[in-house]
Amino acid sequence: MAAQLLDGKILSAKLEEKVRARVEALAEKGYTPGLTVILVGENPASQTYVRNKEKACERLGIRSRTLRMPEATTQAELESAIAQANADPAVNGILVQLPLPKHLNEECALSLILPEKDVDGFHDVNAGRLSKGLDCVGACTPKGALCMLKEAGVDICGKEAVIVGRSNIVGKPMALLLLKENATVTVCHSRTADLAAHTRRADILVAAIGRPRFITADMVKPGAVVVDVGINRVDGKLCGDVDFEPVSQIASWITPVPGGVGKMTIAMLMDNTVAAAEKAALAL
Ligand code: NDP
Repeated sequence: MAAQLLDGKILSAKLEEKVRARVEALAEKGYTPGLTVILVGENPASQTYVRNKEKACERLGIRSRTLRMPEATTQAELESAIAQANADPAVNGILVQLPLPKHLNEECALSLILPEKDVDGFHDVNAGRLSKGLDCVGACTPKGALCMLKEAGVDICGKEAVIVGRSNIVGKPMALLLLKENATVTVCHSRTADLAAHTRRADILVAAIGRPRFITADMVKPGAVVVDVGINRVDGKLCGDVDFEPVSQIASWITPVPGGVGKMTIAMLMDNTVAAAEKAALAL
């Protein structure tokens, strides 16, 4: 393998140490950060993600509470759960695990979370502030991916960054973060004509597609930094959106799946939760 590994396990552990120190500083003032996760339904991947978030809270001394709601939960019941968490001063962060069952309105639910408790960074206020380049709660996955690039000392300013995927939770906020770092940003999607012509120009290539091994070596510029956000399950095994082995022969840096961006997403959630707690503690 020619590329160096952007190792999410090592980096997230480093980040967690910093977060733990901040939790301890809050504990000395008698304050414990609290995260409430709302999980509706039985989606197995969501259950795994939520368990990983609970474990991270345990490791770091963050009080976590998971509201497990049945698949048949109504919009009113979901909104009432959000309202209760909004009103609870012991809760600093609220996360509604996505995707919600199809009969529920995701946008409406997310918009009800108080922006200062929106530790996922999905609320319109936080998304809007990000688009204006203002201080905001950053969406965890793009923030984690950017942190990996910075930790590796990747030069972003003036570079061609190409993102494949334009979702509100990964592709768009990733584009805005890289723009803020002065990259020249192209966002591609399923209607992009000649996708490979775009990806081959990328100094920094971010794949957030949700299709296993979609980005092949012939789509990557030699020496590119490749960030694979995708999490796909093939024959019971996890893989990313990038064809890892061949692409790692020509990239300069690459994130593995698993052990890459996913680890950073959880670390950033902890970081956002503690930041919200620090603000709340200051206001006491
Ligand atoms: P979405 O399904 O919301 O978005 C996928 C994007 O990929 C869309 O913009 C879509 O285009 C684009 N796309 C789909 N097919 C093609 C194609 N053939 N050519 C070009 N673009 C295409 O997914 P998410 O953004 O939520 O997630 C993307 C991946 O990242 C998934 O694998 C998900 O599991 C993973 N993920 C990982 C996280 C982590 O912590 N590592 C966190 C969140 C997600 P269009 O808009 O035109 O439909």
